[in-house]
Amino acid sequence: MNNWQRIDDEAAMLAFGASVAQQFPSGGLITLHGDLGAGKTTLVRGLLRALGHTGNVKSPTYTLVEPYHLAGCDIFHFDLYRLAEPEELEYMGIRDYLRPDALCLVEWPEKAAGVLPEADLRIHIRYCGEAREILLEEFNRF
Ligand code: ADP
Ligand code: MG
Repeated sequence: MNNWQRIDDEAAMLAFGASVAQQFPSGGLITLHGDLGAGKTTLVRGLLRALGHTGNVKSPTYTLVEPYHLAGCDIFHFDLYRLAEPEELEYMGIRDYLRPDALCLVEWPEKAAGVLPEADLRIHIRYCGEAREILLEEFNRF
């Protein structure tokens, strides 16, 4: 766990998200780990914009999931911060979202422990003064 990469500002985080989009042509599960305000949603915004999204990217804090259809791919952005219990995800029909041809981006995956499968890519973000640092953990199909 020592390949932390420095991300100086919001623009650099958006660019990082765009680079993740380039490495990720079709489906899979990406989890985003980091404290409130670390930049998880900002990274997702950069990724969605790189795939052609032009509107807002709102954090689905209350709705838990926000769907997109970009570059011929279904993309689901989850924010599980307010998930009361992991089982709630099963009531939502999480299995329908986790199709191999859909890309799922999940903030606060810790809230769904035991229900969410192993990620294909884990993105860790931590504070570094005013800036941030990122560590990628790649699994499975990467
Ligand atoms: P999270 O989804 O992890 O709670 P957000 O992406 O919503 O975080 O918010 C991150 C906030 O931190 C934004 O207001 C952004 O402008 C600010 N920020 C400052 N520096 C950075 C950086 N290096 N990367 C990402 N965001 C940054
Ligand atoms: Mg967020």
